[in-house]
This record gives sequence, structure tokens and C-alpha cells, in this order.
Amino acid sequence: MATHTIIEQPSASPGLLDRQPQLVEPNDERPREPQPPAVPTAPAARRSLFADVMTRLDRAADIVRLDPNIRKILASTENEIVVNFPVKMNGCDVEVFTGYRVQHNDALGPFKGGLRFHPQLDIDEARALAAWMTFKCALVDIPFGGAKGGIQIDPAKYSPTQLERITRRFAYALGDNIGPDYDIPAPDVNTNPQIMAWILDTYLSTLPPHERQRHVHVVTGKPLAAGGSAGRDKATGQGVAFCVERWAQEHRRPLEEATFTVQGFGNVGSWAARLIAGLGARLIAVQDVTGGTRNRNGIDPEDLLRYVSVHGGVARYPGGEFVDDIMFMQTPADIFVPAALENQINATTAAWLNVSVVAEAANGPTTPEADDILKQRGIDVIPDILCNAGGVVVSYFEWLQNKRSEFWDLEEVDFKLRKKMNLAYDRVRDKARELSIDWRTAAYVLALSRLEKIYKERGIFP
Ligand code: NAD
Repeated sequence: MATHTIIEQPSASPGLLDRQPQLVEPNDERPREPQPPAVPTAPAARRSLFADVMTRLDRAADIVRLDPNIRKILASTENEIVVNFPVKMNGCDVEVFTGYRVQHNDALGPFKGGLRFHPQLDIDEARALAAWMTFKCALVDIPFGGAKGGIQIDPAKYSPTQLERITRRFAYALGDNIGPDYDIPAPDVNTNPQIMAWILDTYLSTLPPHERQRHVHVVTGKPLAAGGSAGRDKATGQGVAFCVERWAQEHRRPLEEATFTVQGFGNVGSWAARLIAGLGARLIAVQDVTGGTRNRNGIDPEDLLRYVSVHGGVARYPGGEFVDDIMFMQTPADIFVPAALENQINATTAAWLNVSVVAEAANGPTTPEADDILKQRGIDVIPDILCNAGGVVVSYFEWLQNKRSEFWDLEEVDFKLRKKMNLAYDRVRDKARELSIDWRTAAYVLALSRLEKIYKERGIFP
């Protein structure tokens, strides 16, 4: 039996990837001895990530004079599900895993958000990620609310068969806390279409046979044959590429002459790298959990992807020189695409960046303090809830296709995605200009205004 616990109070918790880099002068390009490959270290204590989201919410709420009652609602989550579930590992040994699903808000539609498998996932991180989903869906105008969850696990330690059993047991433990018109998971860090297919199959297996076909949209990001959408695998990277393209056009910076760096070379980072390179820009440095690689003459992202699929990381890629965290962050380029985890651009690293724009493919890559530093340094930021929204937009398309028993081709998906992304980009830009505020605050202003409208129209029960 799984135990379900509802936790009510946000708790401060250690953050992810708080590597403590040594301080050097900003943009110090003197040759340095590369450090050994970066290994994730024990996280240093830091304040709550959810509190950081609330800092952003407060900035925007003050500007729009958000109704204090609606601010109170959005400052808390609706439901928090914690499941501790046992899985038989080798023969008879049992391991107990902890899984989360935080449902932040469903005023605009069913809860929607990814599942992350990561050793440092905790309730605070799930809360923050769920709240970002609420604001993202509101900003890009799709009828979903916000949720997030996953399992506190290092998936690299388990075989595919064990991962399947863990995933299925997690889906079973979540039970009716997810559902096609209630809460719809999707892939996130260390999860993929295969994991979505196992969740789908487990969920459907618990239903009577005549109910199953009607519930295929319980997860999105599924493999094509299991009801997935064309273009969902690249959707987040594609949305990032659309934003970068629009930014370059508006700043009269031909991408054929531009350089870019990417942090994280998983689903989002590798697609963003390939698609931005496809627009003509030169990829010159990439970093992942194994370390960094740099080549100022250019890195072929397709070749790097082939290398990573065999060797598991970018650190020793023969087409580049190894660079440590500091050298990677200081690499001069036009565009930086963070596509890994939270808090990578902090008060220290923001001073090192030597780029014109940060296109936030990851969720929460920039701390509030770093936002201020980037602003002072004149570095543009395309904020996460806009820049990485392509994933949830195409998840919405997948959900619609499943509901209507349709299949859209890639051209149709890309056309509709571009339209949504460009519209949201233009609205954020215009709002930032109108109110003379930064783009992140403008994105939150737009999201909050939409959420406020629906609460005002529907009222608050009773
Ligand atoms: P992924 O698991 O496919 O890839 C994560 C990448 O980050 C890997 O290359 C990993 O090596 C790298 N990484 C991990 N720790 C790192 C570190 N300390 N330094 C540098 N690199 C590190 O995950 P993903 O789906 O590509 O997600 C990446 C980010 O994009 C996350 O913030 C996620 O929430 C966000 N996002 C994902 C989607 C989606 O559709 N998958 C949608 C929107 C936002």
C-alpha cells in the first residue's frame, strides 16, 4: 500500500547544483588550467526556490495592483501529494521511493506539468515548478493550470527494467490524482516518451476496458505510436529557437554571424542547439553534468549528440577542448541558452556572462539577484515562462488531438506553435515597453492579469 500525505506548509530546502565556483575577475579570458570534470556536489543550504517564485510574483503583483485575495490564492498550492511506494528490486529486496505531485492552480483548466526524476527533487522544488506552469500556461493562453512532480531518485543507478517497475509503481500510487481532464503529466528532467508510455499503460490498466481509449490523453509527450504528437520531442527547443530568431530579427543581429553557448544537452538543450544552429548561428560551447566543451570555430550539434549518445556526456568530446564551469560561463558569445536546472545564473555567475541575451530554456535558471545584475549589465533575458513554453503548447496540441481522435502533421504543429510563441513574445515585449519593466516581470504581469480576470468572473466559492 502506498501512503499518501498532504503536506501543507512550504519548507526551506537545499537547492540543486549549488556548486561553489571560485571567484575570478569577470570575463577573464587568460588561459587557465581546466579543472577535472564537474561532478555534482552536495548542495549547499539555500533558501526556498518557491520563495524565489513568490518574489517574482510579488514584483508583478505590485505593478498590476493584483487583488490581495487572488495574490493569497496564487501564493499557495492547491494540492500536494506525497507518495512513499515500495518496489521489489532484485528478487525480493524492496526499496521505498518518494514521489511528489504538486498541483498549484487549476483556475484556467486541468493541472498540467512535467515529472522529473532527480535525486534532489523535493516538495519545495515541485512547488516552484508547479507555480511556473500556472503562469506559463496563463501567459501563452492555453486552457491548463499548473502542476509538477516526480520521484526523488538518481535514475542512472537503475536498469531500464527497474526504472519501468519504479515508474509503473509511482503511476499506480498516484492513482486518481492524475487524469486526462484533471492533471496531465509530461516529460521533464530525466524522463522521456518511454516513461510517459509506461505511465499511460499503467493508468489505462486500472480502468475498465471500455474506458481506456477515452483516457489516452492522461499524459502528453508520449511516443508517436502510443498517441503522441508530431513535433513534441523537439517542441521546447523549437519554442526557444523561435524566440531567439525573433530576438535576433528585432535587434538586427543576423544569426549567421552570431555565436551561442548551451548549458544542458538533454532533450531541450540538444534540440535548441540543433535548431538554433539550423538558423545559421555557430555553437561554440556546451556544458552538461559531466563538464564542458568549447571550440570557437564551431561545434556540430548533430555530431556532439552522436558522441553523447555513446559516451554519456559532452566533457571529453574530441571536437572541442575541455572547459570547467567558470571557463564555460565566461565564454564570450551572443546568445546563452541555459537548458539544465535551476539557479545556474546566480549573483556570482551573472557577473561572468559575456553575452547579449539569455534565452531561458530551463525553468528558473536565474535567481532574483542575478536578474538585477543582468539588467544592470544590459543583458537581455527572454524569461523561462515565455522561452520554454513550446513544450506545454505542443503538449496541449497532443491533448487536443487525442480528444478529437486526430493526427496533425509536423507542418501543422510547427505552424501553430510558431503562431502561439510569436504572439506571446510580442505581448511580453509590448507590456515591458508600456510599463518600462523587465521582460520577466512583464511576463508575470500578463499571466497574473489573465488569472485575475477568471477569478473575478467566476468569483470565489462560497
Ligand atoms: P534532460 O534530463 O533531458 O536534460 C538535462 C540536461 O541538463 C542534461 O544534459 C544534464 O547533463 C544537464 N545537467 C544536469 N545537471 C547539470 C549541471 N550541474 N551543469 C550542467 N548541466 C547539467 O532534461 P530536459 O527535459 O532537457 O530539461 C532541461 C530543463 O528544461 C529543465 O529545467 C526543465 O524543467 C526544462 N523544461 C523541459 C521541458 C521538456 O519538454 N522536457 C519543457 C519546459 C522546460
